Amino acid sequence: MSKFWSPFVKNLVPYVPGEQPKLTKLVKLNTNENPYGPSPKALEAMRGELNDNLRLYPDPNSDLLKQAVAGYYKVQPNQVFLGNGSDEVLAHIFHGLFQHDAPLLFPDISYSFYPVYCGLYGIPFEPVALDEQFQIRVEDYRLANAGIIFPNPNAPTGCLLALDAIEQLLKANTESVVVVDEAYIDFGGETAISLVDRYPNLLVTQTLSKSRSLAGLRVGLAVGHPDLIEALERVKNSFNSYPLDRIAIVGATAAFEDQAYFEETCNKVIASREKLVAELNARGFEVLPSAANFIFARHPGKDAAGIAASLREQGVIVRHFKLPRIDQFLRISIGTEEQNQALLDALN
Ligand SMILES: *Cc1c(COP(=O)(O)O)cnc(C)c1O
Repeated sequence: MSKFWSPFVKNLVPYVPGEQPKLTKLVKLNTNENPYGPSPKALEAMRGELNDNLRLYPDPNSDLLKQAVAGYYKVQPNQVFLGNGSDEVLAHIFHGLFQHDAPLLFPDISYSFYPVYCGLYGIPFEPVALDEQFQIRVEDYRLANAGIIFPNPNAPTGCLLALDAIEQLLKANTESVVVVDEAYIDFGGETAISLVDRYPNLLVTQTLSKSRSLAGLRVGLAVGHPDLIEALERVKNSFNSYPLDRIAIVGATAAFEDQAYFEETCNKVIASREKLVAELNARGFEVLPSAANFIFARHPGKDAAGIAASLREQGVIVRHFKLPRIDQFLRISIGTEEQNQALLDALN
C-alpha cells in the first residue's frame, strides 16, 4: 500500500488465476486449456501477419473477425462485440450493463471473476445457491436484480443448464440483462445464441481460449441485441480502442473458418472426458456430470487438498478451491490420452 494509490485500490481483491508453472515437464491439468494446439490454418494466418504492417495500428473494430463470427452464428455484425479475452468482454459488461441499484445475481458456486468485477465496479451482488446436486434452479432467480450471469456449462462444476430452462429464465426476467457465459459450450452444450433475436436482454459470451485452443492469443466475444452491443462499444471505446491486435484478428478469424479441425479436437476431448470419468468412477470418485473440458470430482475417503498435493509431488497439477461447499472437490482439465493416463497412474 502507498499514499499514491487511489483510495478504492486498497480494497480490491484481485482474481487469482491457476498456476502457470515455469517447469514445463509438469502434466498441467489445472487451467482448462485445450491439450491440442490451435488450428494449423490459424497458425499459418498468424505467421503471414508477421510483417512490416505491424507498424500500423490494427482495425479498431476488428471487422474481419466480426464478420466471421456473425457468419458462423447467423447473426448481424452489429450483434457481435469483441474483446481481449472474454474476461475483458465480461469486464465491459459489468461496467456498462450491471451498474444499477439492485444486486447482480449469480450462482454461489461459479466463476470467481464475477465477484472480483463487482468489487472493481462497486456492484452489489447476491449469490444464489446451487441445489444439492450442484445444479442451477432457474426459479431461484425470481428476485429484484440488476442483472443475472452464470457460466453454461457452469464452472467449476461442469454442469449444463438446458436451453429450455434458460428460456424459462428469460421469460420470467425481462427487465434486466441475462448473460450466459459460454466459455465451455462447445464441449457438449447447445449455444443460447439462437435465442438472442427473441430476447433483447440476452447476451451470450464466448472465448477462443478453450474450444479453439487460443488462450495465449486473448480473444473473446459477446453476441446479443445491437443496443446491448452498443453499450459495450461505448465502454470499450472509452477504455482501449485497439483490444485486438493484427495477429489476433487474423488468427481468430482463421480459427473460426477451420470447422473440421475444431470439430475433430472437441470430439477428442469429449471422448477422453468420458473415458476419464469411467476410470475415476472405478477408483471410487464421484464425478459431477460434465459438459465441459474439465471434470469436478470428489473421493468419499480421501481429502481433496491431500490428493492435489500428492499429485503435485508426482508432477501432475489439478485445481483445488478452498471454498465453502466445494473444498472436497478437485477440478481436473481433460488432457491428451497420455496426460490423463499420467493422472491415473499418479492416483494409483
Ligand atoms: C476461461 C473462462 C473465461 C475467460 O476466458 P478468456 O481466456 O478470458 O477468454 C470466462 N468465463 C469462464 C467461466 C471461464 O472459465
